[in-house]
Amino acid sequence: MSNFNNLGLNDKLTQTAQKIGFEHPTEVQSKVIPVLLEHSTTDLIALAQTGTGKTAAFGFPLLQKVDPEEKHTQGLILAPTRELCLQITKEMQSYAQMTGINNIVAIYGGASIEQQAKSIRRGAQIVVATPGRMKDMIKRNLVKIDQLEYCILDEADEMLNMGFYEDITSILSHTPDDKDTWLFSATMPKEVARIAGKFMMDPIEITVGAKNEGTKNVTHEYYIVNRNDRFKALKRLVDANTNLTAIIFCRTKRDTQKIADQLVETGYSANAIHGDLSQQQRDLVMNSFRKKQIKLLVATDVAARGIDVDDITRVINYQLPDEIEVYTHRSGRTGRAGKSGKSLIILTKSELRKVRQLQKIIGQKFEESQLPSADFIIQQQLLKLVNQVREAQPDDKIDEYMPDIMENFKDEDKESLIKKFLAVEFNRFSQYYRTEGQMSKPDKSKGEKIKDHGNETRFFINVGEKDGLNWMKLKDYLKDELNEDKNGIQKVDVMGTFSFFNTPRELQDKVLQHFKHANFKGRKVEVEISKDKPKRKRKKIKREDNIKSSFKRRRKKR
Ligand code: AMP
Repeated sequence: MSNFNNLGLNDKLTQTAQKIGFEHPTEVQSKVIPVLLEHSTTDLIALAQTGTGKTAAFGFPLLQKVDPEEKHTQGLILAPTRELCLQITKEMQSYAQMTGINNIVAIYGGASIEQQAKSIRRGAQIVVATPGRMKDMIKRNLVKIDQLEYCILDEADEMLNMGFYEDITSILSHTPDDKDTWLFSATMPKEVARIAGKFMMDPIEITVGAKNEGTKNVTHEYYIVNRNDRFKALKRLVDANTNLTAIIFCRTKRDTQKIADQLVETGYSANAIHGDLSQQQRDLVMNSFRKKQIKLLVATDVAARGIDVDDITRVINYQLPDEIEVYTHRSGRTGRAGKSGKSLIILTKSELRKVRQLQKIIGQKFEESQLPSADFIIQQQLLKLVNQVREAQPDDKIDEYMPDIMENFKDEDKESLIKKFLAVEFNRFSQYYRTEGQMSKPDKSKGEKIKDHGNETRFFINVGEKDGLNWMKLKDYLKDELNEDKNGIQKVDVMGTFSFFNTPRELQDKVLQHFKHANFKGRKVEVEISKDKPKRKRKKIKREDNIKSSFKRRRKKR
């Protein structure tokens, strides 16, 4: 097994590794550190998952190469989120403790730009930044990177997923051509390859594990349920694991908040994290999750990026993400730092094809599992309670009241007394599972059909595939805009530059009113009632004809 002494690191850095408890380099560190140190100058692409020790893989070589005597910015690390930016800065500061590089500055949105500019003016040899804020500061001349020697793009695929392509290319255009660029990414989608092609020269490629592979420590299981049983399924998964710390992923901000609220209402320690919360609220939620005051964190993909909590036992996919690549990042939140983890997926029969795609991408088999039975959950919860009672340390104060308490129970024998104490906590579980918690068997014979409400209005909307939408994304957008649940938006058909959807007739005025003032990606959205009758069961080719002619009619009218 390799150790930090034979990677080419100087004494100060090997001693630091020892001091902070890094006994052996991780795979990405043993592969990347020697390569970066051997070459006085090189570009590099490293494909590695989150949680594999990437920060030290680029951090140690960077610290060895940067000149502590020079005060100008020599190294820039770009990362997708504020959380990740702060986390990298903290790690880098701890690695730099013996190097004399003592001003590593974090730059990110949601905090004072003046304060950050002040730290830069003091001389920041290394800057760790989110793309948006960095671009802003360059534009305002608050940071200079014209003498940059090393640029690291961390979680490049995440940055591009989040729409930072323009910001990154703009930042890179302010840097010298002869700098070294080191790109780290969990996956290699087209956009990452595009950045590499445009800004890197003959990069050395290093892959840790197989390309696009989920971490080996993570196993994947899925549960097929009926469309309306998702929440019940989630409760079963949570109740059956009495020692659970989990991130639950939803697709939209609205669902994220709704699921967290429903969990809290039914007695769980849960909270939500999503883009509608202020930075301060998000910090509060994250701190309580880190301190284990909350065990269930319900999150959107964007908000969960950069979450660095090592002992998450489960990732629960309440809904699968639209972009299959995103799943790798979700499941990478568990199974970190050498521990094993599980990624659980709740899905309907019609989503099974996505699982097949995921298996191919991740190169691992996903197991279909049965949800824990009510009996099993009841037994687990009872055992947990019995253990809690056995381990409880009674407060001395109770002694004062014991005579009265004993008087109260003088007619009870030991067995009935134990039963009654357990019942206080336990009854809500057994009652729930005997009544509303029961689940119907999923209908596996066919994909699920959307109910036909009959009394609906069909709308035309001027956004479509060209705007990056598919029916699922458009439905999520409409749900969020109109603050409606899935029953409010039906029969979404996405075409090239426009789409159609139905709502119950009573929502017609609300929809028309709302879309007088709505934007999509900065473009004014136009919504009008479609002249077509709400049809459903048409042959695909015919339907397209209808839509095309309806569009022609609409154009003629204008
Ligand atoms: P990263 O992928 O850089 O976010 O690292 C994930 C976690 O692993 C962090 O908490 C690091 O401090 C820790 N870590 C990184 N390298 C090592 C190592 N060689 N030995 C032990 N822990 C490490």
